[in-house]
Amino acid sequence: MASGENDRSFGPLTELVTAGRDPDDSYGFVNPPVVRGSTVVWPTVADMKALRGRYTYGRRGSPTSDALCDALMRLEGSDHVSLVPSGLNAVALGLLATLSAGDHLLMVDTVYEPTRKLCDGLLKRLGIDTDYYDPLIGSEISGHMRPNTKAVFVESPGSLTFEVQDVPAIAGAAHARGAAVVMDNTWATPLFFRAHDFGVDVSVSAGTKYLGGHADVLIGWVSATGQYASAVKQAHGALGLCVGPDDMFLGLRGLRTLGVRLAHHQASALRVARWLESRPEVERVMHPALENDPGHALWKRDFSGACGLFALELAPGSDEAVAEFLDGLELFGLGYSWGGYESLAIPYDARAVRTATRWAPTGPTIRLHIGLEDVEDLIADLDAGLARYAAAS
Ligand SMILES: *Cc1c(COP(=O)(O)O)cnc(C)c1O
Repeated sequence: MASGENDRSFGPLTELVTAGRDPDDSYGFVNPPVVRGSTVVWPTVADMKALRGRYTYGRRGSPTSDALCDALMRLEGSDHVSLVPSGLNAVALGLLATLSAGDHLLMVDTVYEPTRKLCDGLLKRLGIDTDYYDPLIGSEISGHMRPNTKAVFVESPGSLTFEVQDVPAIAGAAHARGAAVVMDNTWATPLFFRAHDFGVDVSVSAGTKYLGGHADVLIGWVSATGQYASAVKQAHGALGLCVGPDDMFLGLRGLRTLGVRLAHHQASALRVARWLESRPEVERVMHPALENDPGHALWKRDFSGACGLFALELAPGSDEAVAEFLDGLELFGLGYSWGGYESLAIPYDARAVRTATRWAPTGPTIRLHIGLEDVEDLIADLDAGLARYAAAS
């Protein structure tokens, strides 16, 4: 499986099954071995001095990391992939690889909250200035660019509120001014949004979510093209980032079933979203695959699917009524890190994490992750929850 080949002669499901493995290299076994190792030894001083051989030091790569990186490179259609210990670490690496002291960053207002903290904290201390912009800005982003704007960060759909961005329009404007486009592509995964095909230079993902898929691993990756491939590689090496072999193996194992799991998450989530839309206790469902969602046209143009994560706004009601709804759910856990096989629900208030736009729902808002359970069971659980909500409101 040669790395860095961007030709897509196979369909994406075939790529998921074949990428990054070659039984001839694994004594015939289907899966590559989990290689544990810090030290690499050479037979002679001459070999050592010439760094002869494929591997030099555990941190700098192993057959296990190569297998996962090669597979992800094929899925992304990129020139380079670096593995990191978490999704947030992928965001940080993407930004540290593209920005220096004195640079300006344009950050989407609907970004994942810890990314905002990174920008307003560590990056600010390192002399990098961040301005937030409206996710719906499109090519008007030009008007916000300064001579020192070196990166524009997109996340689509937006965290918690699911606004779809016009990524190609933003990328066109950013590239015209020499800025890099960095994207958090965790929601769609490269299976449903091929970020680099839409002008994204550096695509970051929390593999903790759907790549792992079983709520049992923290991992992230950064994919880059062109000049940004070496920038990411260098920053990754300088920071000494590496991932344990068992976690990399769980990433590889998750990759093989990513397609079928996402198809199921997608179908069930859409089913639940449509059912919620029809309910009087629900004011609005935020899911870009719904025909009347404001982001639907852009989603349809650029994405080839939707995952299991979306949100809803309830008709006005108290916090106590929301707690009645959520506390009594049997099949939805109250938890943040989605993308596993199980369903989740969280109440949220996005008002505190928006500074360039105003978020003003009329009722309480809830984010759902639809897992792999029978969808009828999930709907029955939510149905009983909405009845509790209405009774307590
Ligand atoms: C979860 C998440 C992250 C962070 O991933 P971790 O592995 O938990 O650090 C980053 N971005 C988005 C959009 C996420 O949902």
